[in-house]
Amino acid sequence: MELKKLRCSNCDGPLKQADDGKYYCENCGTSYLMDMDPEDVIYEKINDLTSNENLTKVAENINARASKTFRYVALVIFFLFIVVGVLMVFFIRSELKHRIEAEQSAAIVSSQMAERESEFNEEYDRISEQIESQRDNLTGDS
Ligand SMILES: [Zn+2]
Repeated sequence: MELKKLRCSNCDGPLKQADDGKYYCENCGTSYLMDMDPEDVIYEKINDLTSNENLTKVAENINARASKTFRYVALVIFFLFIVVGVLMVFFIRSELKHRIEAEQSAAIVSSQMAERESEFNEEYDRISEQIESQRDNLTGDS
């Protein structure tokens, strides 16, 4: 491979490529167009690559890859939903368990308090009766 300078065949001036794909001489303005020879190997390759069949094949390839990617993403999202669902079930179950345990211990505490209260009331009544009987004894003696 070698780099070739593009030169005008009329005046040997430098050639510049314009937006229309043509080359123009900067000195005399002669225009040049790349002439594709149908027997040219590169021309054949370009023709092959840009043929409808090939473009259709490329498009099908891209579609297949896109749908594969889509299926993969859908699968990942599905598994994420399952994981989140399982975690939520575990969380709700442990939350319910904690709540039930808290209610049970609250019930135990309140029954213990009721027991203490009745014990205190019995003690209070017993002492009150003692005081009453002692006062009766004192007043009975005098
Ligand atoms: Zn020229």
